[in-house]
Amino acid sequence: MEEAKTAEDVKAERLRRAREIAEKKGREREADEVEKPEYGLSKKERLKIPRQPMPEQAPFVRIKNFESVVLGYAGEVALLEAERCLDCPDPKCIPLCPAEVDIPAFIREIVKGNLEGAYAVLKENNALPAVCGRVCPQEIQCEQDCLLAKKGPVAIGRLEQFVAEYMLERYEKEPPRVTRYKPTKEKVAVIGSGPAGITCAADLAKLGYEVTIFESLHKPGGVLMYGIPPFRLPRRIIEAEIKSVQDMGVEITCNTVFGKTITLDDLLNDGYRAIFLGTGAGLPTFLGIPGENANGVYSANEFLTRINLMEAWDFPNADTPVYVGKRVVTVGAGNTAMDCSRVARRLPGVEESRIVYRRTKSEAPARAEEIDHAEQEGVIFNFLTQPVEIIRDEMNWIKGLKCIKMELGEPDESGRRRPIPIAGSDFEIECDTLLNAVGQRPNPIAMGSIPGLEISKWGTVPVDERTMQTNVPYVFAGGDVTVGASTVIFAVGQGKKAARGIDAYLTAVRDGRIKWGEKLAVAVSAVSVAG
Ligand SMILES: Cc1cc2nc3c(=O)[nH]c(=O)nc-3n(C[C@H](O)[C@H](O)[C@H](O)COP(=O)(O)OP(=O)(O)OC[C@H]3O[C@@H](n4cnc5c(N)ncnc54)[C@H](O)[C@@H]3O)c2cc1C
Ligand code: SF4
Repeated sequence: MEEAKTAEDVKAERLRRAREIAEKKGREREADEVEKPEYGLSKKERLKIPRQPMPEQAPFVRIKNFESVVLGYAGEVALLEAERCLDCPDPKCIPLCPAEVDIPAFIREIVKGNLEGAYAVLKENNALPAVCGRVCPQEIQCEQDCLLAKKGPVAIGRLEQFVAEYMLERYEKEPPRVTRYKPTKEKVAVIGSGPAGITCAADLAKLGYEVTIFESLHKPGGVLMYGIPPFRLPRRIIEAEIKSVQDMGVEITCNTVFGKTITLDDLLNDGYRAIFLGTGAGLPTFLGIPGENANGVYSANEFLTRINLMEAWDFPNADTPVYVGKRVVTVGAGNTAMDCSRVARRLPGVEESRIVYRRTKSEAPARAEEIDHAEQEGVIFNFLTQPVEIIRDEMNWIKGLKCIKMELGEPDESGRRRPIPIAGSDFEIECDTLLNAVGQRPNPIAMGSIPGLEISKWGTVPVDERTMQTNVPYVFAGGDVTVGASTVIFAVGQGKKAARGIDAYLTAVRDGRIKWGEKLAVAVSAVSVAG
C-alpha cells in the first residue's frame, strides 16, 4: 500500500514537476505548472504546509535599480500556498476585505488549476486586483483573522498578485475579449482617476451609465501612478488594469483640473446628472519649523511625483530632473516616508538615507513589510526624534536638521502614546536634502468649486456612509477625500459603494420618486437592490 504523502513530499514532487515543465518550455511560469493535483491533501497534511515566502531581489542588488522588489510566486509555490486555505464554512477573511472579494472561492480555483476562473472571481468585485495584491496591507485586513493566523495566515495578497499578474502577462500576448458595456443610462462625471474614481467608474459602466473620468495629471492612476514607486508597483500593472476599465467603455480625459479647466456648470450643461469626487488627499502638511522654505527641502508629493510620474530617476533620459545631495533625511514613518527613503537610497550620489520619526517603530503607520524592506536596504532609522529646525547656509540651502530626542508618555486621542521632548537633548543631523512625509490633506480646488458643498474642519468631504452621497444631492464622494490619507482598498470599497449610491439616486429620479437635486431618502433599500 502506498504511504501517505507529507506536505514536504508533495512540495518536492511538485517542484520537481515544475522544474521539468519550466525546462521543457524554457520558461519560468506556465499555466501548465499549475495543473490540478493528482492527489488531494488531507486537512492534516494541509495544516503542515508552512506559509510560503515571497522571493525578492537581494537588497544589495535592488538598491541599484527601480525594478520590482518582490518577484512573485512561481506556479507550484502558489499552488502549495493555495492548498493551505481550509475553505472555512464561515470565512473570516471576506468581511475584512473592503471590496468583499470571495477569497476562498478564488483560492479554490487556483487549487483546481483554473487561473482564469480565479481571476474572474477577483475581478467581479475589484477592478484593481493586481494593484491590491501588491500594495494592500493584508496583515491588518483579510489575513488578520484568517483561521491560520497563528501559524501564518494564508498569503491571500501574494496569491491575488500571482493570479492577477499571471493573467495580465497572458493578456499582453493575447488580449481578452472584455465586455464593452453599452451605455443605456445617464452621463456621470468622475473627478480623479485614483483607485476610488477608477472603481466607481468601472462599476457605473457595468450598471449601464455613460462615464467620463476627468483627471488633472497627464496620466491616470492617482497615487498608484505618482506616489507609489515602480519597485513596489510596476507601471505596466497599473496601466493594464486601467486599460481594462477603459475597454469596458469608461472614457478618461487627462490634463483637466475640475474647478479650473472645467467647472461644475460646464458638466451640468453637458448633461452630466451625477458627479463622483475621488480627488484624494494630495495636499502636503507642513512641518511648521523654522527653515522649511530652504532649498533642498521637498514635500513627499513633489519628490515622489518627479520620480514616479515624471521618471526623474531616469534623468537625463527623462525630461524632469530631481536634485538630491549626499545625505537625505525623510521625516515621518508612514508608507509615504518609506517610499521616499527607499527611492532616495536608489538615487545615484546618495550616500545616506535616513528616517526621522518622533515615536517608536511599533507606532510607525507604515506596513511592517515596508519598514523591513527599508531596513534591509540600509535606510537608517532615528526613532523618538523630532525635527525642530532646518539649518541653512548663507544661500538658504539646507545643511542640517536640528532635532530633539523624545520619550513616550500617556496615550493621546489616537490611542498611541504621546511623544514628549526630553529637555536638553538637542542634536544635529548633517544633511543636504529633506523630504517631508508627515501627512497629506485633500486639495480644496475641486470641492471648493461646488457651491454649498459641506467641508469638515479637517478639509474632508462628509458623506452618508451608506451611499457616499454628500449634502449636495447629485454629488457623491469616496476615498481619501472623505477621510484624509487611507488605503487603496478602502478607496476601492468606497468607490463601489458610491457607484451603488449613484445608481440608487438616478434610478429614483428616473422613476419619479424624487426630483433631481432632492436628497435620496430611500438610499439604503435602493442600494442593496442595486448591489
Ligand atoms: C507615497 C504613498 C504610498 C502609499 N502606499 C500605500 C500602500 O502601500 N498601500 C495602500 O493601501 N495605500 C497606500 N497609500 C495610500 C493610497 O495610495 C491612497 O489611500 C489611495 O490612492 C486613495 O485613492 P483615491 O482614489 O481616493 O485618491 P488618489 O489616489 O489620491 O487619486 C486622486 C486623483 O484625483 C486627481 N485630482 C485631484 N484633484 C483634482 C481636480 N481638481 N480635478 C481633476 N483631478 C483631480 C489627482 O490628480 C489624483 O489622480 C499610499 C499613499 C502614498 C501617498
Ligand atoms: S479564513 Fe483563511 S483559511 Fe479560512 S477561507 Fe479565509 S483564507 Fe481560507
